[in-house]
Amino acid sequence: MSRPVPVPTSLSRPFWEGTRRGELLIPCCTACGERFFVPEPACPACMSQEWTYRPSTGRGTVYSVTVVHRAPGPGFDAPFALAVIDLDDGSTMLSHVVGSAPEDVVIGMRVRVDFRAYTDEITLPYFVAEA
Ligand SMILES: [Zn+2]
Repeated sequence: MSRPVPVPTSLSRPFWEGTRRGELLIPCCTACGERFFVPEPACPACMSQEWTYRPSTGRGTVYSVTVVHRAPGPGFDAPFALAVIDLDDGSTMLSHVVGSAPEDVVIGMRVRVDFRAYTDEITLPYFVAEA
């Protein structure tokens, strides 16, 4: 068995089209400017339903991290580092930090997005140490 594959919805489809192109798109509220992730019907800051995807630089800082030792399901290679990442241009993402030993991923570490094709349709955004 392999790990579950994200299924694009009407809300998330542009995000997944972006990752396939190597672009990280983050919802941005056109009413108040809040950037948020994951995509939701309304802005979590002001509840406006007027928001649009805007490109992110994909660079940020590890806000918190944990090392997952027990795979959450089939198809996950444990141990791995699961981190909350503060993106430089706003919003936070929960993602794997790869390319380093999991125990070397620390709070404050600079990271950048790194796209990995998972299926023909789905390319996942991972993060790696910023060069
Ligand atoms: Zn808003």
